[in-house]
Amino acid sequence: MKFGGSSLANAGQFKKAGDIVRADKSRRYVVPSAPGKRDGKDDKITDLLYQTYDAAVSGASYKKIYEKIKSRYRGIIDGLNLDLNLESEFDNIEENFLAKSGREYAASRGEYLNGLIMAEYLGFEFIDADRIVYFNDDGSFDAEFTNKEIEEVLSTVEKAVIPGFYGIDHSGRIRTFSRGGSDITGSIIARGINADIYENWTDVSGFLVADPNIVDEPAVIETITYRELRELSYMGASVLHEDAIFPVRKEGIPINIKNTNRPDDRGTMIVESTCKRSPYTITGIAGKKGFCSINIDKAMMNNEVGFCRKALQAFEDSSISIEHMPSGIDTMSVIVHQEEFQDKEQQVVASIHRLAKPDSVEMESGIALIAVVGRGMRTTRGTAGRVFSALAHARINIKMIDQGSSELNIIVGVSDTDFEAAVRAIYDIFVSTQLN
Ligand code: ASP
Repeated sequence: MKFGGSSLANAGQFKKAGDIVRADKSRRYVVPSAPGKRDGKDDKITDLLYQTYDAAVSGASYKKIYEKIKSRYRGIIDGLNLDLNLESEFDNIEENFLAKSGREYAASRGEYLNGLIMAEYLGFEFIDADRIVYFNDDGSFDAEFTNKEIEEVLSTVEKAVIPGFYGIDHSGRIRTFSRGGSDITGSIIARGINADIYENWTDVSGFLVADPNIVDEPAVIETITYRELRELSYMGASVLHEDAIFPVRKEGIPINIKNTNRPDDRGTMIVESTCKRSPYTITGIAGKKGFCSINIDKAMMNNEVGFCRKALQAFEDSSISIEHMPSGIDTMSVIVHQEEFQDKEQQVVASIHRLAKPDSVEMESGIALIAVVGRGMRTTRGTAGRVFSALAHARINIKMIDQGSSELNIIVGVSDTDFEAAVRAIYDIFVSTQLN
Protein backbone atom coordinates (compact mmCIF):
# COMPACT_ATOMS: atom_id res chain seq x y z
CA MET A 1 0.00 0.00 0.00
CA LYS A 2 1.08 3.55 -0.73
CA PHE A 3 -0.11 6.64 1.12
CA GLY A 4 0.00 9.96 -0.68
CA GLY A 5 1.14 13.29 0.75
CA SER A 6 -2.29 14.52 1.85
CA SER A 7 -2.87 11.18 3.62
CA LEU A 8 0.22 11.88 5.76
CA ALA A 9 0.12 15.66 6.00
CA ASN A 10 -0.17 15.75 9.81
CA ALA A 11 -0.52 13.51 12.87
CA GLY A 12 -4.30 13.22 12.41
CA GLN A 13 -3.86 11.90 8.88
CA PHE A 14 -1.09 9.54 10.05
CA LYS A 15 -3.51 8.07 12.59
CA LYS A 16 -6.07 7.39 9.88
CA ALA A 17 -3.38 5.70 7.79
CA GLY A 18 -2.24 3.68 10.81
CA ASP A 19 -5.80 2.48 11.48
CA ILE A 20 -6.10 1.42 7.86
CA VAL A 21 -2.85 -0.57 7.93
CA ARG A 22 -3.75 -2.29 11.18
CA ALA A 23 -7.28 -3.14 10.05
CA ASP A 24 -5.99 -5.94 7.82
CA LYS A 25 -3.05 -8.18 8.73
CA SER A 26 -2.31 -8.92 5.10
CA ARG A 27 -1.24 -5.30 4.63
CA ARG A 28 2.48 -5.85 4.98
CA TYR A 29 4.43 -3.27 2.99
CA VAL A 30 3.77 0.43 3.31
CA VAL A 31 5.15 3.13 1.02
CA PRO A 32 4.76 6.69 2.33
CA SER A 33 5.03 9.96 0.40
CA ALA A 34 6.40 13.09 2.02
CA PRO A 35 3.88 15.18 4.00
CA GLY A 36 1.68 17.10 1.59
CA LYS A 37 -0.54 20.13 2.03
CA ARG A 38 -2.76 20.30 5.12
CA ASP A 39 -4.98 22.85 3.38
CA GLY A 40 -5.09 24.89 0.20
CA LYS A 41 -2.53 27.47 1.34
CA ASP A 42 -0.06 25.04 2.85
CA ASP A 43 3.27 23.86 1.40
CA LYS A 44 4.32 20.40 0.34
CA ILE A 45 7.45 19.27 2.15
CA THR A 46 9.03 18.26 -1.17
CA ASP A 47 8.68 21.82 -2.49
CA LEU A 48 10.20 23.21 0.71
CA LEU A 49 13.12 20.80 0.40
CA TYR A 50 13.86 21.97 -3.13
CA GLN A 51 13.71 25.58 -1.93
CA THR A 52 15.98 24.91 1.03
CA TYR A 53 18.51 23.12 -1.10
CA ASP A 54 18.55 25.78 -3.83
CA ALA A 55 19.07 28.49 -1.23
CA ALA A 56 21.76 26.51 0.63
CA VAL A 57 23.86 25.80 -2.45
CA SER A 58 23.61 29.35 -3.74
CA GLY A 59 24.80 30.75 -0.41
CA ALA A 60 21.42 32.39 0.35
CA SER A 61 19.74 32.09 3.73
CA TYR A 62 17.96 28.78 3.97
CA LYS A 63 17.55 28.29 7.74
CA LYS A 64 14.03 29.69 7.93
CA ILE A 65 12.59 27.36 5.30
CA TYR A 66 14.49 24.44 6.75
CA GLU A 67 13.07 25.26 10.17
CA LYS A 68 9.57 25.07 8.66
CA ILE A 69 10.32 21.55 7.42
CA LYS A 70 11.72 20.42 10.76
CA SER A 71 8.75 21.78 12.67
CA ARG A 72 6.31 19.91 10.39
CA TYR A 73 8.03 16.63 11.24
CA ARG A 74 8.31 17.48 14.92
CA GLY A 75 4.58 18.25 14.93
CA ILE A 76 3.79 14.84 13.48
CA ILE A 77 6.05 13.03 15.96
CA ASP A 78 4.55 14.90 18.94
CA GLY A 79 1.00 14.40 17.68
CA LEU A 80 1.62 10.66 17.52
CA ASN A 81 3.34 10.60 20.93
CA LEU A 82 6.33 8.82 19.48
CA ASP A 83 9.59 8.31 21.26
CA LEU A 84 11.56 9.30 18.17
CA ASN A 85 14.16 12.01 17.77
CA LEU A 86 15.09 13.10 14.25
CA GLU A 87 17.44 15.93 15.24
CA SER A 88 20.62 14.11 14.19
CA GLU A 89 18.96 13.22 10.87
CA PHE A 90 18.11 16.92 10.36
CA ASP A 91 21.73 17.92 11.05
CA ASN A 92 23.06 15.27 8.74
CA ILE A 93 20.74 16.37 5.92
CA GLU A 94 21.77 20.00 6.40
CA GLU A 95 25.44 19.05 6.17
CA ASN A 96 24.78 17.13 2.99
CA PHE A 97 22.88 20.07 1.49
CA LEU A 98 25.83 22.35 2.18
CA ALA A 99 28.12 19.76 0.60
CA LYS A 100 25.93 19.99 -2.56
CA SER A 101 24.65 16.43 -2.47
CA GLY A 102 22.20 17.15 -5.31
CA ARG A 103 18.58 18.26 -5.77
CA GLU A 104 17.37 14.69 -6.07
CA TYR A 105 18.94 13.81 -2.73
CA ALA A 106 17.31 16.92 -1.25
CA ALA A 107 13.84 16.07 -2.54
CA SER A 108 14.10 12.45 -1.42
CA ARG A 109 14.53 13.38 2.25
CA GLY A 110 10.82 14.16 2.54
CA GLU A 111 9.93 10.52 2.00
CA TYR A 112 12.94 9.27 3.94
CA LEU A 113 11.99 11.13 7.13
CA ASN A 114 8.32 10.27 6.76
CA GLY A 115 9.32 6.63 6.33
CA LEU A 116 11.24 6.68 9.61
CA ILE A 117 8.21 8.10 11.40
CA MET A 118 5.78 5.68 9.75
CA ALA A 119 7.96 2.66 10.62
CA GLU A 120 8.19 3.74 14.25
CA TYR A 121 4.47 4.44 14.42
CA LEU A 122 3.45 1.09 12.96
CA GLY A 123 6.21 -0.93 14.61
CA PHE A 124 7.33 -2.12 11.16
CA GLU A 125 10.90 -2.50 9.96
CA PHE A 126 12.28 0.48 8.00
CA ILE A 127 13.84 -0.58 4.70
CA ASP A 128 15.49 2.37 2.99
CA ALA A 129 14.61 2.67 -0.68
CA ASP A 130 18.31 3.10 -1.46
CA ARG A 131 18.76 -0.60 -0.64
CA ILE A 132 16.24 -1.90 -3.13
CA VAL A 133 15.25 0.68 -5.76
CA TYR A 134 17.90 1.13 -8.44
CA PHE A 135 18.46 3.65 -11.19
CA ASN A 136 20.91 3.61 -14.06
CA ASP A 137 23.59 6.28 -14.04
CA ASP A 138 21.66 8.23 -16.69
CA GLY A 139 18.78 8.57 -14.22
CA SER A 140 16.47 6.02 -15.83
CA PHE A 141 14.90 3.36 -13.64
CA ASP A 142 16.64 -0.04 -13.58
CA ALA A 143 13.54 -2.23 -13.39
CA GLU A 144 15.00 -5.70 -13.55
CA PHE A 145 17.82 -5.17 -11.05
CA THR A 146 15.37 -3.50 -8.68
CA ASN A 147 12.95 -6.36 -8.97
CA LYS A 148 15.63 -8.87 -8.00
CA GLU A 149 16.74 -6.79 -5.03
CA ILE A 150 13.19 -6.34 -3.77
CA GLU A 151 12.50 -10.06 -4.04
CA GLU A 152 15.66 -10.87 -2.15
CA VAL A 153 15.56 -8.24 0.59
CA LEU A 154 11.85 -8.35 1.32
CA SER A 155 11.59 -12.14 1.27
CA THR A 156 12.93 -12.17 4.82
CA VAL A 157 11.01 -9.16 6.09
CA GLU A 158 7.48 -9.77 7.32
CA LYS A 159 6.31 -6.15 7.49
CA ALA A 160 8.14 -3.05 6.33
CA VAL A 161 7.92 0.63 5.53
CA ILE A 162 9.77 1.64 2.37
CA PRO A 163 9.91 5.36 1.51
CA GLY A 164 8.55 6.26 -1.92
CA PHE A 165 9.86 8.48 -4.73
CA TYR A 166 13.58 7.65 -4.71
CA GLY A 167 16.30 5.06 -5.02
CA ILE A 168 19.99 4.97 -5.79
CA ASP A 169 22.01 4.75 -8.99
CA HIS A 170 24.83 2.31 -9.58
CA SER A 171 27.37 5.02 -8.71
CA GLY A 172 25.78 5.52 -5.32
CA ARG A 173 23.88 8.76 -5.94
CA ILE A 174 20.32 9.24 -4.71
CA ARG A 175 17.86 9.54 -7.62
CA THR A 176 14.18 10.37 -7.71
CA PHE A 177 11.34 9.59 -10.06
CA SER A 178 9.43 12.54 -11.50
CA ARG A 179 7.00 14.37 -9.20
CA GLY A 180 4.32 12.19 -7.71
CA GLY A 181 6.70 9.23 -8.07
CA SER A 182 5.83 7.46 -4.81
CA ASP A 183 3.04 5.87 -6.83
CA ILE A 184 5.75 4.22 -8.91
CA THR A 185 7.61 2.95 -5.85
CA GLY A 186 4.41 1.36 -4.57
CA SER A 187 3.89 -0.33 -7.89
CA ILE A 188 7.41 -1.72 -8.18
CA ILE A 189 7.31 -3.03 -4.61
CA ALA A 190 3.96 -4.71 -5.37
CA ARG A 191 5.54 -6.33 -8.41
CA GLY A 192 8.69 -7.39 -6.54
CA ILE A 193 6.79 -9.15 -3.77
CA ASN A 194 4.13 -10.51 -6.10
CA ALA A 195 1.38 -8.80 -4.15
CA ASP A 196 -2.27 -9.82 -4.43
CA ILE A 197 -3.17 -6.17 -4.70
CA TYR A 198 -1.57 -2.71 -4.72
CA GLU A 199 -3.63 -0.30 -2.63
CA ASN A 200 -3.00 3.34 -3.44
CA TRP A 201 -4.43 5.55 -0.68
CA THR A 202 -5.14 9.13 -1.60
CA ASP A 203 -7.68 11.88 -0.88
CA VAL A 204 -10.36 10.97 -3.41
CA SER A 205 -12.56 7.88 -3.58
CA GLY A 206 -11.16 6.78 -6.92
CA PHE A 207 -11.16 7.91 -10.51
CA LEU A 208 -14.13 9.98 -11.53
CA VAL A 209 -16.00 9.59 -14.79
CA ALA A 210 -15.26 13.25 -15.61
CA ASP A 211 -13.27 16.16 -14.21
CA PRO A 212 -15.05 17.50 -11.09
CA ASN A 213 -14.03 21.03 -12.08
CA ILE A 214 -16.27 20.68 -15.12
CA VAL A 215 -19.03 18.28 -14.03
CA ASP A 216 -20.75 18.60 -10.64
CA GLU A 217 -20.07 15.58 -8.44
CA PRO A 218 -19.28 13.12 -11.18
CA ALA A 219 -19.80 9.40 -10.58
CA VAL A 220 -16.85 7.27 -9.46
CA ILE A 221 -15.44 4.66 -11.84
CA GLU A 222 -15.70 1.33 -10.05
CA THR A 223 -13.58 -0.76 -12.38
CA ILE A 224 -11.26 0.35 -15.13
CA THR A 225 -8.72 -1.55 -17.19
CA TYR A 226 -5.09 -0.49 -17.46
CA ARG A 227 -5.65 0.36 -21.11
CA GLU A 228 -8.63 2.55 -20.43
CA LEU A 229 -6.75 4.28 -17.66
CA ARG A 230 -3.84 4.94 -19.95
CA GLU A 231 -6.14 6.61 -22.47
CA LEU A 232 -7.76 8.76 -19.80
CA SER A 233 -4.50 9.71 -18.07
CA TYR A 234 -2.96 10.63 -21.39
CA MET A 235 -5.84 12.99 -21.96
CA GLY A 236 -5.39 14.70 -18.64
CA ALA A 237 -7.16 12.69 -15.94
CA SER A 238 -4.80 12.46 -12.99
CA VAL A 239 -4.92 10.57 -9.73
CA LEU A 240 -2.10 8.14 -10.26
CA HIS A 241 1.35 8.75 -11.77
CA GLU A 242 1.24 7.47 -15.36
CA ASP A 243 4.33 5.29 -14.94
CA ALA A 244 2.85 3.54 -11.93
CA ILE A 245 0.79 1.33 -14.18
CA PHE A 246 3.61 -0.54 -15.90
CA PRO A 247 5.25 -2.59 -13.10
CA VAL A 248 2.01 -4.10 -11.77
CA ARG A 249 0.52 -4.47 -15.22
CA LYS A 250 3.37 -6.83 -16.09
CA GLU A 251 2.26 -9.18 -13.34
CA GLY A 252 -1.49 -8.67 -13.59
CA ILE A 253 -1.67 -7.17 -10.09
CA PRO A 254 -4.76 -4.97 -9.62
CA ILE A 255 -4.48 -1.46 -8.20
CA ASN A 256 -7.14 -0.23 -5.82
CA ILE A 257 -7.38 3.55 -5.50
CA LYS A 258 -8.75 4.25 -2.02
CA ASN A 259 -9.62 7.30 0.06
CA THR A 260 -7.80 7.63 3.41
CA ASN A 261 -10.56 9.94 4.63
CA ARG A 262 -13.36 7.53 3.63
CA PRO A 263 -11.80 4.09 3.92
CA ASP A 264 -15.10 2.27 3.51
CA ASP A 265 -15.65 3.64 0.01
CA ARG A 266 -14.79 0.98 -2.52
CA GLY A 267 -12.68 3.28 -4.64
CA THR A 268 -11.59 2.32 -8.13
CA MET A 269 -10.18 -1.05 -9.13
CA ILE A 270 -7.66 -0.92 -11.96
CA VAL A 271 -7.39 -4.34 -13.56
CA GLU A 272 -5.91 -6.01 -16.59
CA SER A 273 -9.25 -7.10 -17.95
CA THR A 274 -12.73 -7.61 -16.61
CA CYS A 275 -16.11 -9.06 -17.53
CA LYS A 276 -17.79 -6.36 -15.47
CA ARG A 277 -19.71 -3.98 -17.63
CA SER A 278 -19.47 -0.31 -16.95
CA PRO A 279 -22.88 0.91 -15.75
CA TYR A 280 -22.80 3.76 -18.26
CA THR A 281 -21.36 2.07 -21.41
CA ILE A 282 -18.53 4.56 -21.26
CA THR A 283 -15.92 4.37 -18.50
CA GLY A 284 -14.69 7.94 -18.49
CA ILE A 285 -14.32 11.24 -20.30
CA ALA A 286 -11.14 13.31 -20.33
CA GLY A 287 -9.78 16.03 -22.51
CA LYS A 288 -7.34 18.82 -23.01
CA LYS A 289 -7.33 22.21 -24.62
CA GLY A 290 -4.57 23.82 -26.60
CA PHE A 291 -4.19 21.76 -29.75
CA CYS A 292 -3.61 22.99 -33.24
CA SER A 293 -4.47 21.39 -36.57
CA ILE A 294 -2.22 21.66 -39.60
CA ASN A 295 -4.28 20.96 -42.69
CA ILE A 296 -2.31 19.89 -45.71
CA ASP A 297 -3.99 19.85 -49.15
CA LYS A 298 -2.89 18.42 -52.44
CA ALA A 299 -5.00 17.51 -55.44
CA MET A 300 -4.79 13.77 -56.17
CA MET A 301 -2.97 13.16 -52.87
CA ASN A 302 -4.52 9.72 -52.73
CA ASN A 303 -2.57 8.66 -55.83
CA GLU A 304 0.79 9.77 -54.53
CA VAL A 305 2.54 6.95 -52.72
CA GLY A 306 4.66 8.26 -49.80
CA PHE A 307 2.95 11.65 -49.47
CA CYS A 308 2.10 11.18 -45.78
CA ARG A 309 5.59 9.99 -44.96
CA LYS A 310 7.14 13.04 -46.56
CA ALA A 311 4.79 15.44 -44.80
CA LEU A 312 5.30 13.75 -41.44
CA GLN A 313 9.05 13.85 -41.87
CA ALA A 314 8.79 17.61 -41.42
CA PHE A 315 7.33 17.12 -37.94
CA GLU A 316 9.89 14.53 -36.97
CA ASP A 317 12.76 16.74 -38.12
CA SER A 318 11.56 19.44 -35.72
CA SER A 319 10.93 16.92 -32.90
CA ILE A 320 7.20 17.64 -32.82
CA SER A 321 5.09 14.76 -31.59
CA ILE A 322 1.83 14.09 -33.36
CA GLU A 323 -1.43 13.50 -31.53
CA HIS A 324 -3.80 12.50 -34.31
CA MET A 325 -3.97 12.42 -38.05
CA PRO A 326 -7.47 12.50 -39.50
CA SER A 327 -7.43 12.46 -43.29
CA GLY A 328 -9.58 12.97 -46.37
CA ILE A 329 -8.95 12.03 -50.00
CA ASP A 330 -6.97 15.10 -50.92
CA THR A 331 -6.24 16.39 -47.41
CA MET A 332 -4.51 15.26 -44.32
CA SER A 333 -4.62 17.03 -40.98
CA VAL A 334 -2.03 16.71 -38.30
CA ILE A 335 -3.03 17.56 -34.74
CA VAL A 336 -0.25 18.73 -32.42
CA HIS A 337 0.14 20.48 -29.08
CA GLN A 338 0.05 24.18 -29.81
CA GLU A 339 2.57 25.07 -27.12
CA GLU A 340 5.12 22.62 -28.45
CA PHE A 341 4.47 23.61 -32.04
CA GLN A 342 4.11 27.38 -32.15
CA ASP A 343 7.79 28.31 -31.93
CA LYS A 344 8.65 25.94 -34.73
CA GLU A 345 5.58 26.40 -36.95
CA GLN A 346 7.21 28.28 -39.82
CA GLN A 347 10.13 25.89 -39.90
CA VAL A 348 7.73 22.93 -40.09
CA VAL A 349 5.53 24.50 -42.78
CA ALA A 350 8.56 25.34 -44.91
CA SER A 351 9.80 21.84 -44.59
CA ILE A 352 6.39 20.33 -45.49
CA HIS A 353 6.52 22.43 -48.67
CA ARG A 354 10.03 21.34 -49.44
CA LEU A 355 9.51 17.63 -48.73
CA ALA A 356 5.92 16.94 -49.85
CA LYS A 357 5.14 19.78 -52.29
CA PRO A 358 1.50 20.27 -51.21
CA ASP A 359 -0.91 22.79 -52.79
CA SER A 360 -1.51 24.50 -49.48
CA VAL A 361 -0.88 24.26 -45.75
CA GLU A 362 -3.31 25.91 -43.36
CA MET A 363 -3.46 26.03 -39.62
CA GLU A 364 -6.23 26.23 -37.10
CA SER A 365 -5.53 26.80 -33.43
CA GLY A 366 -7.63 26.70 -30.28
CA ILE A 367 -8.76 23.09 -30.60
CA ALA A 368 -9.69 20.93 -27.63
CA LEU A 369 -9.65 17.15 -27.80
CA ILE A 370 -12.07 15.06 -25.78
CA ALA A 371 -11.62 11.33 -25.35
CA VAL A 372 -14.67 9.25 -24.55
CA VAL A 373 -13.20 6.00 -23.29
CA GLY A 374 -14.83 2.68 -22.54
CA ARG A 375 -14.31 -1.03 -23.08
CA GLY A 376 -18.09 -1.30 -23.31
CA MET A 377 -18.14 0.48 -26.68
CA ARG A 378 -16.89 -2.53 -28.54
CA THR A 379 -20.08 -4.44 -27.89
CA THR A 380 -22.57 -1.59 -27.85
CA ARG A 381 -23.96 0.00 -30.93
CA GLY A 382 -24.80 3.66 -31.02
CA THR A 383 -22.11 5.00 -28.71
CA ALA A 384 -20.67 7.31 -31.35
CA GLY A 385 -24.20 8.33 -32.31
CA ARG A 386 -24.94 9.33 -28.73
CA VAL A 387 -21.72 11.36 -28.45
CA PHE A 388 -22.52 13.22 -31.65
CA SER A 389 -26.15 13.87 -30.83
CA ALA A 390 -25.20 15.11 -27.35
CA LEU A 391 -22.87 17.62 -28.97
CA ALA A 392 -25.40 18.57 -31.63
CA HIS A 393 -28.07 19.22 -29.00
CA ALA A 394 -25.62 21.38 -27.09
CA ARG A 395 -25.03 23.28 -30.37
CA ILE A 396 -21.37 22.34 -30.46
CA ASN A 397 -19.59 21.96 -33.75
CA ILE A 398 -17.33 18.91 -34.09
CA LYS A 399 -14.09 19.68 -35.87
CA MET A 400 -12.54 16.24 -35.89
CA ILE A 401 -13.47 12.63 -35.13
CA ASP A 402 -11.15 9.73 -34.47
CA GLN A 403 -11.93 6.20 -33.33
CA GLY A 404 -9.03 3.83 -32.82
CA SER A 405 -9.18 0.27 -34.09
CA SER A 406 -9.28 -0.94 -30.50
CA GLU A 407 -12.77 0.61 -30.27
CA LEU A 408 -11.77 1.69 -26.81
CA ASN A 409 -12.18 5.38 -27.39
CA ILE A 410 -13.75 8.00 -29.55
CA ILE A 411 -11.90 11.26 -29.78
CA VAL A 412 -13.62 14.41 -30.89
CA GLY A 413 -12.06 17.78 -31.55
CA VAL A 414 -14.07 20.88 -30.66
CA SER A 415 -13.24 24.53 -30.25
CA ASP A 416 -11.43 25.38 -26.98
CA THR A 417 -14.35 27.60 -26.04
CA ASP A 418 -16.80 24.69 -26.34
CA PHE A 419 -14.67 22.32 -24.28
CA GLU A 420 -16.45 22.42 -20.91
CA ALA A 421 -19.93 22.42 -22.44
CA ALA A 422 -18.98 19.45 -24.61
CA VAL A 423 -17.72 17.40 -21.66
CA ARG A 424 -20.90 18.18 -19.72
CA ALA A 425 -23.11 17.25 -22.67
CA ILE A 426 -21.38 13.89 -23.12
CA TYR A 427 -21.48 13.20 -19.38
CA ASP A 428 -25.17 14.01 -19.26
CA ILE A 429 -26.17 11.73 -22.07
CA PHE A 430 -24.26 8.71 -20.77
CA VAL A 431 -24.33 9.15 -17.01
CA SER A 432 -26.89 11.67 -15.72
CA THR A 433 -29.69 10.18 -17.78
CA GLN A 434 -28.86 6.74 -16.29
CA LEU A 435 -28.79 8.03 -12.73
CA ASN A 436 -32.10 9.89 -12.92
N1 ASP B 1 6.86 13.86 -2.63
C1 ASP B 1 6.98 13.73 -4.04
C2 ASP B 1 6.23 14.85 -4.74
O1 ASP B 1 5.72 15.74 -4.10
C3 ASP B 1 6.58 12.37 -4.54
C4 ASP B 1 5.19 11.93 -4.17
O2 ASP B 1 4.54 12.52 -3.33
O3 ASP B 1 4.73 10.94 -4.76
O4 ASP B 1 6.18 14.87 -5.94
